[in-house]
Amino acid sequence: MSVLALKIDVDTYQGMKTGIPHIVKVLDKYGIPASFFISFGPDRSGLAALQLLRPKFLYKMIRTNAPGMYGIKTALYGTILPAPMIGLSFPEDIKHLSEMGHEVACHAWDHRLWQDWLPLMSRNRIDIWLDRLVNAYMETLCERPQGFGAPGWRMDKRALEIINRFGFKYLSCTRASMPFIFRENGMIEIPSNLPCIEEVGTKGVIRVLEDNADSPGPQVLPVHAEVEGGLYENDFKQILDKAMSLGYNIERIDNIVKDIDRKGLHMRGLQQGFIPGRAFKCSV
Ligand SMILES: [Zn+2]
Repeated sequence: MSVLALKIDVDTYQGMKTGIPHIVKVLDKYGIPASFFISFGPDRSGLAALQLLRPKFLYKMIRTNAPGMYGIKTALYGTILPAPMIGLSFPEDIKHLSEMGHEVACHAWDHRLWQDWLPLMSRNRIDIWLDRLVNAYMETLCERPQGFGAPGWRMDKRALEIINRFGFKYLSCTRASMPFIFRENGMIEIPSNLPCIEEVGTKGVIRVLEDNADSPGPQVLPVHAEVEGGLYENDFKQILDKAMSLGYNIERIDNIVKDIDRKGLHMRGLQQGFIPGRAFKCSV
């Protein structure tokens, strides 16, 4: 029986405010834990409008009905509407997630900045970005974070070197097929190896769950609070029904890391590649 983790990324204010309560209710009904990767800082989603100038991105937005999923306000945050703080606006909700037995991990300070501009961010800027993120986490939960999952699954060698000083126990920054150790910093990487709904549709996710049900490695399903906690809530339930019926053992990522045999993992360097259904390259 394979182990399955739900890696639930919170990218926007809307996802934090309305997506999370929906998702939590669903998880509660199934009696299963999840790993929430929270963006704590400003929601500047509106800056994504600049990306509309890139045809591949525009196509993806139309294909996935992005305005329906994210809402019109989200599309304007950080442009004509001020950028609201995401996790920092909801400290009690985040504490509650942890008290309910879910894992809370770090996803972003400014999601948009990292996802769109990482290659152009200086070392100093990356360091400040991570510092703000970790401080916001500690301010909220009064403990050090264990895991970090990079926005948009985008990492580079400099960020891998810089992140070493922040004391994370593991990373979940890539779309590789199995856990490994980064040659750049010696840290364990637990990748999101399953596709998400936006990439392959609900049937596509279910097909991969069926194919991987007896896989020896942990399966990590990327979920977005804005998506599965919004228009795709019923699809999320269908996916969970299937996972339960296939006998998956649902675990938090930090617990998977505790059980993993580090000596059994191979070490390799960061790579970038295209994933079906994604407009841009991501770390693999
Ligand atoms: Zn994200």
